[in-house]
Parts: sequence; C-alpha cells; structure tokens
Amino acid sequence: TAKPKIVLYWHRTDLRLHDSPALNAALSLNPTTFIPIWTWDPHYPPTASSTPASNYGSSVKRRRAFCLNCGTRGGVTHLVFEKDEDAYARERDGVVVRLAEEAGVEVIVKSGRTLFDVDEIVRKNGGKPTLSMAQVEKAVEKIGNGVPERPIDAPRSIPDPLTRDEMDLKGVKHDGGGMGSKSNDGTDMNADHRSTTDKQYAGIMGPENDFGVPTLEEIGIDPADVQTPHRGGETVALELLGGYIADEEYIGRFEKPNTSPAAFEPQSTTLLSPHLHFRTLSVRKFWWDVQDVMERRKKAKKSNASIPTNLPGQLLFREMYFAAHAAVGEPFCRTYGNPMVRFIDWHLQSKSPEDIAHGEEGGKLYEVDSEEAEVWFLRWKEGRTGFPWIDALMRQLKQEGWIHHLGRHSVACFLTRGGCYVSWERGAEVFEEMLIDRECFPSYKVTSIFCIAECGQRLLTQVIPITDETACNIGNWMWLSCTAFFAQFYRCYSPITFGKKWDPEGNLIRRYCPELAKFDKKYIYEPWRAPIADQRKWECRVTGDGRSSTNEDGKIYPKPMFDFNDRRTICLDAMKNAYHVGLHGNDKEVKDGSWRKA
Ligand code: FAD
Repeated sequence: TAKPKIVLYWHRTDLRLHDSPALNAALSLNPTTFIPIWTWDPHYPPTASSTPASNYGSSVKRRRAFCLNCGTRGGVTHLVFEKDEDAYARERDGVVVRLAEEAGVEVIVKSGRTLFDVDEIVRKNGGKPTLSMAQVEKAVEKIGNGVPERPIDAPRSIPDPLTRDEMDLKGVKHDGGGMGSKSNDGTDMNADHRSTTDKQYAGIMGPENDFGVPTLEEIGIDPADVQTPHRGGETVALELLGGYIADEEYIGRFEKPNTSPAAFEPQSTTLLSPHLHFRTLSVRKFWWDVQDVMERRKKAKKSNASIPTNLPGQLLFREMYFAAHAAVGEPFCRTYGNPMVRFIDWHLQSKSPEDIAHGEEGGKLYEVDSEEAEVWFLRWKEGRTGFPWIDALMRQLKQEGWIHHLGRHSVACFLTRGGCYVSWERGAEVFEEMLIDRECFPSYKVTSIFCIAECGQRLLTQVIPITDETACNIGNWMWLSCTAFFAQFYRCYSPITFGKKWDPEGNLIRRYCPELAKFDKKYIYEPWRAPIADQRKWECRVTGDGRSSTNEDGKIYPKPMFDFNDRRTICLDAMKNAYHVGLHGNDKEVKDGSWRKA
C-alpha cells in the first residue's frame, strides 16, 4: 500500500482559494490527509508589537496547541506554503524549512503574492533594488515579455478536514478520513467553489470547537476601536473586483493622478489594497481581468490610459517596492545601514538607537528643539495640526484604516520634507499601526513557528525584537520624503491649496472634522482666518492645540501649529543641504567628525 501523504497547508497572508499556486500544489499531491492551518503570527495583531509571547491571549495559545497537536500525532509528510520574500518572512521561513527538513518533511514553496517572482525581478535588474518604474518594466520584460502568468482557478473541492475528535489533543488517526465525499472526482464541477470550500473550512474553524476563529475581544481588541467600513474576505474581494471589471469605462480610463483624494463613499480608486495585502485577492487575477477589459477596448478602438498611471501600472508599483525590499533585505526598513536611502538630518530622527546615534554624529544642520518636533509629530498623528486638510485625512486614517494615495502623499510630505521635518520612519510606524493595507510588520518575530517545530518534536517560541517593516509602506514613505525613488524635493504639497483643488467645498473636512462642518467654504481650509463673529456663528472657535475639543465657548478646533510658508522655506533649505552633503544610510563617520562615503 502507498504511504499516506499527510499534507500540512500553511496559510499565511494568502487567505484565498482562487489563483493559489501553493494550494494547487498541495492538492495535486493527492493527500491522504489534508490539514489547512492558519497560525496567529504575532506580527498580525496590531497590539502585538510590544506584547511578549507569554502574554498572548488564550486564542493564540489555543492555536499553538492546535498546531502542536497536528504534529505530535506525527507523520506529516509535506508542508506547502506561498513564498514570501520580505526579510522577516525569509528568516522565519528559513527556520521553518530547516526544522521541517530535519524532521524529514518535504517542503514545497510556490510564488503567488506578486505578478512575477520577485527574486527573478531582482536578478533581471542585476541584483540591485528596483528604483524606478523604468527598471521594473525592463526587468519584467525579460520575464515572460512583461506578462504575468494567467491565474489558476480555485480548487473544485478540498478534502474534508479532520473531525473534531480527530483534532482532539488525545491524538489523531492518520490512516484515512482526510479525503471525504467531496474528493477531486469532478462530480461537483459546477459547484460554487466558495460556498463548498467555505463550508469545508468551517469544519475546522467553526465557533464551537477549540480552534474557532477568535472574536475581536478574545484577541484583546475592543470592537468599538475598529469601526471600519471596509470588509475583508475573498468573497468580498471578488465581488468588488467584479464590480469594477463590469464598468469598462472606469477600468479603461483609470488614471491615478486624476482620481480624487477627497472622494469618499465611494472613494475614487479601487480600495483593493487590503485585499491584496491579505491576498484575499490574487494580484494576477486583478491584472488579467483589467488587461482583458483593456484588450477588448483596444479592439473596439476605445482609448485606454497607459502605464504607469493606469491600473496595471499601479500593480507594477507594488512589484517595484517588493523587489527593492527583496534586493536590500532587512535594512530596507530603515535609514541606518541601508545603501539605497539618503540620510537626512531630520529634526526628529527615527526611534532606532542606531539612527539616533547616526544623526547625532552627523551633526545638526538646523537646530530645532526636538521636543517641539515631537509635539508636531503627535499633533500630526492625532489629526490636530490645525490644518483641516491634514487633520481630516489623519482622522479618516485613524477611524477607517485607509486613505487615498494622494491623501497619503499630502500627510507624508507634510510630516517630512514639507512641514515638520520629522523622519519618514516615524511616519511609517504610524501608518503601520493604522493602515489596513499595511505591507509591513511590527517589531517582534517568533523564531520558530510552532506548527512546524512540532514536526521535529521541538517547540521554540523565543521572541526576538527586530525592526522589520516592508515593501509598500516603507517604499512609499521613502518616495514621499525624497530619501529614495524620488528626488524632486522642491515639489511640495500645500495643506491648503492642494486639498482645495480637489474639494473646494471641503466635504472631506466636514466629514472627518465635524466641528468645522458649518464653516463657509471660504474658510474651511484656513479656519483661523475666519472672523471671531463668524466662528461663533458657525459654532466652533479656532483656539488652543486641539488636546480638547470643547471649552466654555463650545466646540473648538486648534490653531495651526506653525506658519506653513515659513516651514516650507526651512524644509526646502534643509533638503538642499542634505542633497548637497549627499550622505546615504550606510555611509560612515570617520574620526575627525567628517563622513566617508561607503
Ligand atoms: P488603486 O489606485 O486602486 O491601485 C490598485 C492597487 O495597486 C492597490 O490596491 C495597490 O496594491 C497597488 N498600488 C497602487 N499604488 C501603489 C503604490 N504607490 N505603491 C504600491 N502599490 C500601489 N499601499 C499598500 O498596499 N500598503 C501600504 O502600506 C501603503 N503605504 C503607503 C504609504 C504612503 C506614505 C503612500 C504615499 C502610499 C502607500 N501605499 C501603500 C500605496 C498606495 O497609497 C495604496 O496602495 C493605494 O492608495 C491603495 O488604494 P487602492 O487599492 O484604491 O489603490
């Protein structure tokens, strides 16, 4: 008799069934027992960055128990998962693969989170980080003529999961039982893959067993704190994409610079980024569905926008940041030791001790009280800068976890080279905390993943602090702060005129800064200019620093925290100097206090 194949399928951020080369590979093994698992990586809960493993909630411990259980019953023969090129993931997966191989488990890893294999892009770019779209386009041209592979369908069926009894800690039979009635025999060819497989997965994840999906409360999150209108899940992702694809004009005419950062309900761009982040949507499906529409329009002689501003171009930006990160590795997330990032003498450096030392040794070009810059940073983070356009965006981000790309441009430029002169790393941390599409991770990792450790009868749960944040968030912050990818630092976003251009009525401000809702549009971007009598009439006084939202006069909105024009001049001068000095993240200070280029 053939040896049983016990296949552990490890879902990470590939929370989908369609176009999953890894899942496909796992099922192609014709497993005797198929165990799909998802483990709570301490990188994922937003509160976990400062939480030692010993303090994780009971649901995390349950997952660990579940994973441990899978292995202690022994006999896992294959481990399959989707490739992840981020520095943190590479290290984690390296440990996992080593442990699995030591335990005699065959490991299969398939690319699936990007359009092209990111390591291949790096190779085609001469091993260097991709710093421009031209480089990305050139590199992918050498891989399949710039055309990604077509997506693959969702599996028609998935072997039944183990029963509750089989999953019991007492031990599980592994001599069958895995393949259930809905085997790959083609009988349910026309079945809706989502409803079938969802039901099958629900067998493991149902709320009644120990391995159920935990509630928000169970993972220490108050549901009141996460009131976002954006919903997750593969079904939602595919419906959203389908809606856009049905609107051929939208797809064909999509040009990013012409989409409004002030639009909400509905927003002007696809808002598919969180789905791409959690891989509930395959990026290849997104690309190909769009491409097919554009091909049809081309045949019908209807015009299409072109790269880089069209939708395929947006997806290539994503590849550019992933590939840059893959080339640079772990230092990608910071200035210190990062060969591709320009060193800037920010008023407020990142929190990393190395960066602070690096900055201090470099000498301050502009003396600004860093306590003052710290206050600006906090006011920016909390949406109380006194510039309504910035505050509305930061409050939208805080409340909903997503803002439009040009909104991100505005607030990132304002925090860094176009206002506060605070390190992009501080801003990226805030985005990391608040974004639902964040392509980055907090600062702790588990060096061994329990579910694999058990295969080798070892369980290591050491948590090591690292600072590892990745691709899109970090890359875009570098872009906006002109420390890499983009160098035109004289192009600065005004917190007044830029928003006004898109939204002269100030609707975004009225929505997210409701205390200003009654202000006339003449003053909505500069409420401090409104006469006191009008402020009274519109029921909001412009005063204070925004730490409280009312005083004895009623509602209040803060005064601007600085004169923007003064700050813009100071920042521009400082940037000119920084570019003149021309230091990079891995340059070294020499003994006499001067710097040597690495
Ligand atoms: P669409 O315009 O509909 O674009 C479709 C898809 O293309 C997006 O879902 C996204 O996956 C990709 N894309 C578009 N623009 C970019 C870009 N500039 N860089 C990378 N991918 C892009 N995007 C993230 O996915 N995660 C982040 O953590 C993130 N942080 C950012 C931080 C800053 C400071 C800035 C300026 C941008 C950041 N972006 C990030 C990029 C971009 O703002 C978002 O991807 C986009 O706004 C998401 O909205 P959408 O899905 O409607 O985009």
